[in-house]
Amino acid sequence: MTQSRYFTISEYPEGLPERSLFQLETQELPELQEGEVRVRNHWLSVDPYMRGRMSGSKTYIEPFELNKPMQGGAFGEVIESRHHTLKEGDRVIHMGGWRDVAQLDGDQVQPLPDIDVPPQAFLGVLGMPGMTAWAGLTLVAELKSSDTVLISAASGAVGSLAAQLAHQKGCTVIGSAGSQEKREWLEARGIKAVDHHQSADDIKKALKEAAPQGVDVYYENVGGPMLEAALDVMNDFGRIAVCGMISRYNESAPSAGPANIAAVLTKRLRMQGFIVYEWIKGHEQEFYKQVGPLVADGSIEYRETVEEGLERTPDAFLALFEGSNQGKMLVRLD
Ligand code: NDP
Repeated sequence: MTQSRYFTISEYPEGLPERSLFQLETQELPELQEGEVRVRNHWLSVDPYMRGRMSGSKTYIEPFELNKPMQGGAFGEVIESRHHTLKEGDRVIHMGGWRDVAQLDGDQVQPLPDIDVPPQAFLGVLGMPGMTAWAGLTLVAELKSSDTVLISAASGAVGSLAAQLAHQKGCTVIGSAGSQEKREWLEARGIKAVDHHQSADDIKKALKEAAPQGVDVYYENVGGPMLEAALDVMNDFGRIAVCGMISRYNESAPSAGPANIAAVLTKRLRMQGFIVYEWIKGHEQEFYKQVGPLVADGSIEYRETVEEGLERTPDAFLALFEGSNQGKMLVRLD
């Protein structure tokens, strides 16, 4: 018999979740059915969107089911297979995270692409967050080399790739980040850095200094005062790719929107929300072909913050809202 240890939640939290929300459970896995695989996970991904799945209401994705194993991106090795193409030892990416051993429909499991990088990179810079950065910039914002680009949470998993891709394209890039260390990391890569944990007026002032020519593309990850400040410095006909608004994810009641939202009209802005899996469909190979070699040869840099052990998964998740991650937040098992 094989056991699986997995996390559940038994209620949908209000505000920032407490650590005690997450319970570690154990189950004996049922016999493998035709078409299924069993995977021992080595790396788990925790991501801000998971907060939305704890809200109890359906958005673009179903909420987590109470008292059932939570889900998320994971990398692991097939330890048993009744699937026609997958075999023991295969290294795969799948959505059976928040647990040590996953049993899944083999059709839901993706073999690792053939790019010479550590496997956990396929949960970050060459995985869902990387695809989000690339799709948001190239497909949603239709980035041009002449653009001045502003990226919020620019040292995170999504933001750090977006900032480097825009910089390598020849754009002038401004990134926002919440700590001096993160801003120095950006500055060292030719990206002007501002702090987004200030009042909208202070962020505006910093942005006007960093981009006196104004901003053509805003890659939005944060929301709140940062969005208000960004609207102020947008140039006419600018494009805003709305990827995320993490400052709002733990709000118990909705806060007021940006006071200057009318700038969308007066500046004739295009503001487009997007979800990665809808935009990346059909472009996956283009993404791997463009970004894969840059990551493999080190011309795109990526950072990871790693928590050790399955028990630390909720702590890793909660750290995303403290900003204590540098780059991709991961959990290493074994
Ligand atoms: P990050 O690696 O950027 O980690 C989250 C960061 O957000 C923190 O490190 C912190 O950075 C910042 N942050 C946390 N709380 C706040 C707050 N209250 N106010 C301002 N900043 C805050 O995460 P990801 O790269 O994985 O995700 C970035 C964004 O992209 C998120 O909004 C996420 O929801 C979104 N996303 C959207 C997808 C889509 O399909 N649309 C897919 C994937 C991600 P700092 O210290 O700099 O403040």
